[in-house]
Amino acid sequence: MNIRYSNEEHIFNQHMDGVPCLSFDMLDSMGIPNLYSSRFLSFDDTKEAGETGLRVVVMKNEELSEAAPVVLSNRQKLAEQLGSSIERECITDQKHTSNVYVVEEGDLGHFYPEEKPLKRRNVDGMVTDVPDALLTVFGADCPPVYLADPARKAIGLVHAGWRGTLEKIPEAAIDLMKERYGSKPSDIYAAIGPGICRECYEMGSEVYEAFEYKWGKSFAERILSKYPAKDDKGKIIPGGKYHLDLFEANRLTLLNAGIEKEHIAVSNVCTMCNADVFYSYRAHRMENEQCAMLVNRFQ
Ligand SMILES: [Zn+2]
Repeated sequence: MNIRYSNEEHIFNQHMDGVPCLSFDMLDSMGIPNLYSSRFLSFDDTKEAGETGLRVVVMKNEELSEAAPVVLSNRQKLAEQLGSSIERECITDQKHTSNVYVVEEGDLGHFYPEEKPLKRRNVDGMVTDVPDALLTVFGADCPPVYLADPARKAIGLVHAGWRGTLEKIPEAAIDLMKERYGSKPSDIYAAIGPGICRECYEMGSEVYEAFEYKWGKSFAERILSKYPAKDDKGKIIPGGKYHLDLFEANRLTLLNAGIEKEHIAVSNVCTMCNADVFYSYRAHRMENEQCAMLVNRFQ
């Protein structure tokens, strides 16, 4: 897979056996199984070609009965690559909230949120201390944020689109890990996964106003800036759009929640800059999404 990285840092390892995916070097080095999928079902590096069309989530416009067997089979393959199974998996309905759910043994292996209607609806993040639990979130521009506490043997995984980022969903997950598992922020490692980059992510002024209101002017200005509008010849003209940096916004939230700077890995992969490798909502609308997976296992 020919991924364009936005800097030279070695954040990810690429895995080309089986279903291609990325994993975080930081989490790999601690033996914590993790991945982020792509558009590819398979890829032959020697031929630099592969079969695309990996589907891992039932989209709104799809029939559950038709799509479910396909997405479950694909997620099972990915889970197996982590030494896990969808029998150990928990997913949620992901509605761009900042709600985080505490996953227990009985929550695992129910493939659709509909099967647990009361608890897992309106939820965008999960934490768990159940050994070998597999947390999965979906996204096609919204970065996932992976959390791992080797001291307490607990993990978290959240979907951080702009609304969840605004509401600081990673911090909500960290707060729950502190409360439920006695996690100390200084023990937690955090990885911000692939998503849309600042250059690609145009936003209206109402998003700037929302961040300014919630985060204060100085923080809002660090993560949102107005790019000048240009005419056909590249000349600057009145207007321009705000651009939001979801990676930096979530990094600031993690730092603010007490995570050590050295314990944070930040994606240098943009889903829209790499729309040939990843599904991007802005580039393709509803085609499909990637999945982020994290297993509560420590070596
Ligand atoms: Zn980009």
